Amino acid sequence: MEIKNLLKDQVAVVTGGTRGIGLSIVRKFLEQGAKVVLFGSRPESADKAVSTLLSENPQYIVSGMAPKLDDFASVDAAFKEIHDQYGKIDILVNNAGISAREPIDEYSEENFDKIMNLNVKAVFDCTKAVAPYMKEQGNGCIINTSSMVSIYGQASGCGYPASKFAVNGLTKSLAQELGKYGIRVNAVAPGVTRTDMVAALPEDMLARVSAGIPFGRVGEPDEVANVFLFLASSLASYVTGAIVSVDGASKA
Ligand code: NAD
Repeated sequence: MEIKNLLKDQVAVVTGGTRGIGLSIVRKFLEQGAKVVLFGSRPESADKAVSTLLSENPQYIVSGMAPKLDDFASVDAAFKEIHDQYGKIDILVNNAGISAREPIDEYSEENFDKIMNLNVKAVFDCTKAVAPYMKEQGNGCIINTSSMVSIYGQASGCGYPASKFAVNGLTKSLAQELGKYGIRVNAVAPGVTRTDMVAALPEDMLARVSAGIPFGRVGEPDEVANVFLFLASSLASYVTGAIVSVDGASKA
């Protein structure tokens, strides 16, 4: 089925857009006519992703930036630059995230802070920076990347599920706070998805995980990105405050 121009001329910012789920989201948005600014952790990785996308289609309007996501001043300056360039920001995808699986007795404070700073505070920072523009426009769409562990928890590495529970809390609360300005706020909760994050898992663990999924396989980044596309589009005009699972009915 061919779908065309679902996001024609929409301006979108995607954090963690250099690879994995984020890169798939950026590609889908560009294919559907959006202008995209992707954020990476370093200018070089952002530039590399932009070059890859432009080599696929030189007509794409895509650029890269690398603000420090847990530093509000850095994020605020980036959003101001984007708004100055395009005159609006329609869509924000808060996708950048890291995980860790250490048991509690081996979990350093430093690693706990690192997870919270990227997975939670960066979502707060980016949303705080974009909200004034979306309020002024009278519309906007924010989509956060949560995880199935925000529903089930996980047996080791408590910081990661804790951070994603917090993402769900931000999503549901901000949907209520910002709805009166025409801003929708949703989250997607992927199950195990084939990206670098999952490539780091031992083979036997991946086999065990796949065996516990009714389809017998993990998800592909494109299958997750399709749901972001739906939520970003006007097809989801009455969807807000939702945490949408894309996990093939995985069990904890
Ligand atoms: P990935 O490791 O392939 O990509 C992570 C992205 O985050 C990259 O673009 C990277 O540049 C960015 N990033 C990492 N550290 C950063 C930092 N300090 N500052 C700025 N950006 C940084 O991961 P992925 O699997 O594509 O994960 C994307 C999102 O999906 C994350 O929020 C993750 O928690 C979530 N998620 C992934 C899975 C999975 O199985 N892959 C499952 C559920 C949820």
